Amino acid sequence: MNPILKQDLNDIETILERVKQQGIDFLNSIDTIPTSTKNTITTDRNLDDSGLGALSALEEFNQRLAPLMVSQTGPRYWGFVTGGVTPASIVGDWLTTIYDQNTQATKGRGGVSALIEIETINLLLQLLDLPKSFLGGFVTGATMPNFTCLAVARQWFGNQLGKDFARNGISESIHILSATPHSSSIKCLAMLGIGSQNFTKIKTIEGNREAIDIADLEKNIESLNGKPFILISSAGTVNTADFDDFNAITKLKEKHNFWWHIDAAFGGFAACSPKYKHLVSGWHSADSITIDCHKWLNVPYESAFYLVKEQHENLQVEVFQNSNAPYLGDPLENFSYLNFLPENSRRLKALPVWFSLLAYGKQGYQEIIENSVAMALQFDDFISQNENYVLLAPTRLNNVCFTLAGDHNQEKVSSFLTVLNEKGKVFMTPTIYENRKGIRASFVNWRTSELDIQIAIAQMEEILLSI
Ligand SMILES: *Cc1c(COP(=O)(O)O)cnc(C)c1O
Repeated sequence: MNPILKQDLNDIETILERVKQQGIDFLNSIDTIPTSTKNTITTDRNLDDSGLGALSALEEFNQRLAPLMVSQTGPRYWGFVTGGVTPASIVGDWLTTIYDQNTQATKGRGGVSALIEIETINLLLQLLDLPKSFLGGFVTGATMPNFTCLAVARQWFGNQLGKDFARNGISESIHILSATPHSSSIKCLAMLGIGSQNFTKIKTIEGNREAIDIADLEKNIESLNGKPFILISSAGTVNTADFDDFNAITKLKEKHNFWWHIDAAFGGFAACSPKYKHLVSGWHSADSITIDCHKWLNVPYESAFYLVKEQHENLQVEVFQNSNAPYLGDPLENFSYLNFLPENSRRLKALPVWFSLLAYGKQGYQEIIENSVAMALQFDDFISQNENYVLLAPTRLNNVCFTLAGDHNQEKVSSFLTVLNEKGKVFMTPTIYENRKGIRASFVNWRTSELDIQIAIAQMEEILLSI
């Protein structure tokens, strides 16, 4: 054994103790760590012939890199849709690395870990009140369940025409309908060989909505003359957290032949609260659903899962099979994730979610969701009552979409946001909504409190005077 490796093996207790203490120090000061940094690194470090050992590598990390780590996991990072990490999810994440299981099959290599993943999916179905007729698995981020689900949808489309696209390639143009698809779904259409421009944009409901106009959807369905199609719908759009009408879409599914996919990356968690559950009413009738856990479930990156109805299991395997004769049947008996999703070898991705669900249960998550919405509404209150700002859309759930009041201030929006973000107390992201430059604040972090809203507001007031 290499002597430095051997030394590290001997020192493993000291090494892990140091890391544990460093983790505690970081998490305990999360409220004061800036949400942005102007410092950067050169990326041309030489690889040493003889290594440093873990403790010296840690020293270098702490000198050069750790000071650049921003408080993305903290309570005032409101950019994109950014969750944090619950204590229990850290336990699961650390143990995933320690146990280092390759999570594929329910028998053989890493056998139990695939069962833990199946158990975790079942826990998530209970959390979200979805039926067991969905089978699911973990991939990296919501982009990848969109990819996985749309790949199965593509195979379904071919199947309707008697074609096997997975074996023979795409030989027909695929009809996709969507109103406000997330950018990652468009990216998936490119990755899947469908073409990022090859979808029909359905109108949204009039009056400042991002949700699909059902009448226009029906009109477009009629014009397909009974041909199959794929519908990409939204449970939570990123600008205004708008939801398509899933009960109306369920009715359409009774009359027409289509694959129904829902991107519920963050909005799916509305199901955790009796107050907001109505937003996803009817979603159990979808063929496939995308959900991100590293957003509102507050577990570490990279954690998202797909759900595909069990009845489409064969199509899914046709796309993702890694062996010529995959055994389907009982997933508890002889099943391998490598025939169901893009990756082959995978870590035990489900474990942080498993820990967090066991630790906090349905009530814990109900409270996280309801607190996030309450914080969004408090921030919304400030925006709507202050003459310097204006909402671009009503706050429907956890995203506040606003801008500086007055058309003449449109050119100031970018500099306002740049200065706000550079100050490092709060972080938000720019957007364009209905042709106006705007700012999004998305509330998903479990730690965010009223005090954080006040800190952000004070910072905004200060900057407004200076630009
Ligand atoms: C965040 C998000 C995605 C993409 O998720 P990643 O985790 O970044 O891959 C897809 N759809 C919606 C609605 C999202 O909010």
